[in-house]
Amino acid sequence: MQNMNFFSNLTKTSQRFHFKLNRTKLFVFALTLIIFGIALGAFESRTDDKTVANKIVNLNLPERLDFQIPPGNTIPASFGDESAITTAHPIEQWEDVIVDAGQSLDGIFRQQGFSAKTLHEVLALNKETQQLKKIRPGELFEFQRHEDKSLKRMRYAIDEDRYLIIKHDGQQAFASTKTRDMITETTETSGTITSSLFLAGKKAGLNDGMVMKLANLFGWDIDFVLDIREGDRFYLVYEKIYRDGSFLRDGEIIGATFINQGEKFQAIRFDVDGHAQYFAPDGNNMRKAFLRAPLNFSYISSNFNPKRYHPILKRVKAHNGIDYRAPKGTPVFTAGDGKVIRSAYSKYNGHHVFIQHANSIVTKYLHFTNRTVKKGQRVKQGQVIGYVGSTGLAQAPHLHYEFLLNGVHRNPRTIALPPANPLAETQIAEFRKKTSPLLSRLNRLESASMYATSSP
Ligand SMILES: [Zn+2]
Repeated sequence: MQNMNFFSNLTKTSQRFHFKLNRTKLFVFALTLIIFGIALGAFESRTDDKTVANKIVNLNLPERLDFQIPPGNTIPASFGDESAITTAHPIEQWEDVIVDAGQSLDGIFRQQGFSAKTLHEVLALNKETQQLKKIRPGELFEFQRHEDKSLKRMRYAIDEDRYLIIKHDGQQAFASTKTRDMITETTETSGTITSSLFLAGKKAGLNDGMVMKLANLFGWDIDFVLDIREGDRFYLVYEKIYRDGSFLRDGEIIGATFINQGEKFQAIRFDVDGHAQYFAPDGNNMRKAFLRAPLNFSYISSNFNPKRYHPILKRVKAHNGIDYRAPKGTPVFTAGDGKVIRSAYSKYNGHHVFIQHANSIVTKYLHFTNRTVKKGQRVKQGQVIGYVGSTGLAQAPHLHYEFLLNGVHRNPRTIALPPANPLAETQIAEFRKKTSPLLSRLNRLESASMYATSSP
């Protein structure tokens, strides 16, 4: 209302009274604009402080939204499609079709009323269109039609970063692929464990998959089942992958620090012969001949309280092994490569498996509910050899694990393990040069968080 008066008043400049009023109003209006402009500017510079990832999302609108659109949710077909805005052509609506369980492209074409001839033409185009014979439930097809309802255009994500586009001009079909805009950003995060690693990960913005990657990275150095304590910390630099301007998924870990009971471990990704591997800053491979724990912590940590001193620790010496309490059925894997020298049942050990490794090392696993390997079989590190149970002399489901070196029991969680596949002398210099910025970044992240927690 106020503004309308103001503009209509502008035309009545002949009346002096009004003119005066206008000048005052004009001044107020201009002032308002200036203030508003300053406020906007401040707001904008604030958003600049946000992460690069956010910027990408803001600047680069997706041409079309992501694939996993639940049925029933419709999105305007022209969203972010500039051609629809800049040309006078009517907006062509894409129709979304999500593949049902057991549905083939044949089924979809029939459902859409496209002819069998069209289907045949499309499938016969090239190797990529032949892939359409193997579509999966949940995948998205997008269609545009000619006026007679026949197929005009079809779009399908043939893999993570490419669309397969089919055009049909009424006479024949044409296929092309369009590469989607993929951007990988690095991001960093950190966390402190108060109850579980998963919870600390969640607070740090990591999904469970990322937490598992982190644990797997240090699984040769740290027993994530028994050795995690309140106050343990992690610092992580990892990839975030954006597709067509929207966040798609997390990528790989680039570098990480894990501080376990005051002891610091670091892992840095480095390509050797085109394969990404993780190394400690001294060039030793993170992979070692033995895993610290022969079972996956994710089955256990949910009800494990690191604040409480684990009663099982006291018994380590008493009975020459480590007991991992775990739900019945938790998979148990061999801690290292080797050969099964015993897979049997006995009154005391229940179902048990013994494995002979290199360097006169034997590992023993007792009380399985069932075994999945046979005597004489070769096994690879991480391979499942049985499942946690309470067979034999066991009151509750648990894994009893022993580690013997030259026939003498050793604590597998503290024994020094020989390094496996360290970097060659000739690679060390390049490794240091390439990874020193990352190492500095990790260390900066660590000192920044220490400063943040120690200051009021
Ligand atoms: Zn035991």
